Amino acid sequence: MSVRVRFAPSPTGPLHIGGVRTALYNYLFAKKNGGDFILRIEDTDQSRYVAGAEQYIIDSLAWLGLSFDESPAGGPHAPYRQSERKDIYSKYAQTLIDTGKAYYAFDSAEELDAMRKELEAAKVDNPSYNSVTRMKMKNSITLGKEETQRRIANGDPHVVRLMVPLKEEIRFKDMIRDWVVVHSSTIDDKVLLKADGMPTYHLANIVDDHEMGITHVIRGEEWLPSAPLHILLYKAFGWQHPEFAHLPLLLKPEGNGKLSKRDGLLGDFPVFPVEWKDDSGEVSRGFKQDGYLPEAVLNFLALLGWNPGTEQEIFSLEELINAFSIDRINKSGARFDIQKAQWFNQHYIKTMDDATLVAEVNKGLDNEHLASQLVKLMKERVTFIKEIKTEVPYLFEAPSAYDETVAAKKWDDLAKKAMPIIIELLAGVDDFSTENIHKAIWEGLPEQEIKPGKVMQALRLATTGAGNGPDLMLMLEILGKEEVTARIKKALEVLGA
Ligand code: GLU
Repeated sequence: MSVRVRFAPSPTGPLHIGGVRTALYNYLFAKKNGGDFILRIEDTDQSRYVAGAEQYIIDSLAWLGLSFDESPAGGPHAPYRQSERKDIYSKYAQTLIDTGKAYYAFDSAEELDAMRKELEAAKVDNPSYNSVTRMKMKNSITLGKEETQRRIANGDPHVVRLMVPLKEEIRFKDMIRDWVVVHSSTIDDKVLLKADGMPTYHLANIVDDHEMGITHVIRGEEWLPSAPLHILLYKAFGWQHPEFAHLPLLLKPEGNGKLSKRDGLLGDFPVFPVEWKDDSGEVSRGFKQDGYLPEAVLNFLALLGWNPGTEQEIFSLEELINAFSIDRINKSGARFDIQKAQWFNQHYIKTMDDATLVAEVNKGLDNEHLASQLVKLMKERVTFIKEIKTEVPYLFEAPSAYDETVAAKKWDDLAKKAMPIIIELLAGVDDFSTENIHKAIWEGLPEQEIKPGKVMQALRLATTGAGNGPDLMLMLEILGKEEVTARIKKALEVLGA
């Protein structure tokens, strides 16, 4: 049987980076096994529906290069949006009623509330609508066939509930967590079909996984508590359930508790793949807009909860597909370490081809020659592409101040003597290239009994205002002879000659 997995987000807002990891693991598992990766939109909870969230999910995964074999755009099991599959669920709910596995319940909100209060007063553990309490409520079991039919014909509001067995051990083998065993007494008679005729998550999810031929359900740990109920539902339908793999949580940078949006704000990092603007105009940062490369995000996420069993850290998507296996997913949560994401980003910038990088840097610069010089200067030094420009502001504007500590140490008598000489040496350089500048200074200064190394930091200070930075000779070339000369003169004025 060929592998079929699905990513089944609810469009309730922007997709959290943990959701992206879930999608990635599903994708890797599908591709590793030559299977299909399906996008299903679980939008049955209309009160939580957020316009634009579905498109956001699609755009985010497209940015990362995770493509679907089937999705709302099309496929053999269309439609892939649950809101468009309403009839399917009521048909299946009816099957369960017909076979005595589910029942109608007519209880009002007040009646349900009263039951809960009564149970709480009697100190019942875990008060719920279950095999015991259902016998005291208004449902098709207690009301009988005729009254039930009369109420339905009358249009009385009602839900459909699963008849959870009284005493049954529910067990399944999770691919990550091994055996999970739960007693049915801990599960209540869950609503499957709501009063408005819409299915709940549980019914829709199981019906679709079955109808769509899903073989493996790979999802976040937060769904583990629902899994026993899902097993019961499969059983009630008489279907074989898919394999389950519940992924470990993404933890806060400190390692305690689930990673939240707030952690991103506190730690100054994004927790969403791409930027999201909500209705109120509030903007949530995205990895994309922050300057992370898709390759870096994929690599980072892949290793957040999974390990290849080797020392290898750098993986292309292709390599991830080859190396991936569910048994190397950790059971315990994965600490979110943004420095690691930055480390990957730095790596992927270093290995990016120059032409692509130059084109990127040239955006808004419109000077290809300068862009390529900047790339040469900064490629090995930056974490984000934008830093190729922002880390060297002095290449675009003369320094308005000089690093005081460096000035105090390095702007000494020797520097003061050397600077006018350097101006003269540079005047003699026709082709103002890194090599020629270097040659002029390194040959010229020793002739005046000055060791170039002793005044290089002063020259850097004079031309950039800073005490350290990227390759000085290349920066001088980028600035050009006139600008360099003017800057040294200005430094002699300000710092003293
Ligand atoms: N709609 C659920 C979610 O938002 C899907 C959970 C599952 O994969 O079963 O995550």
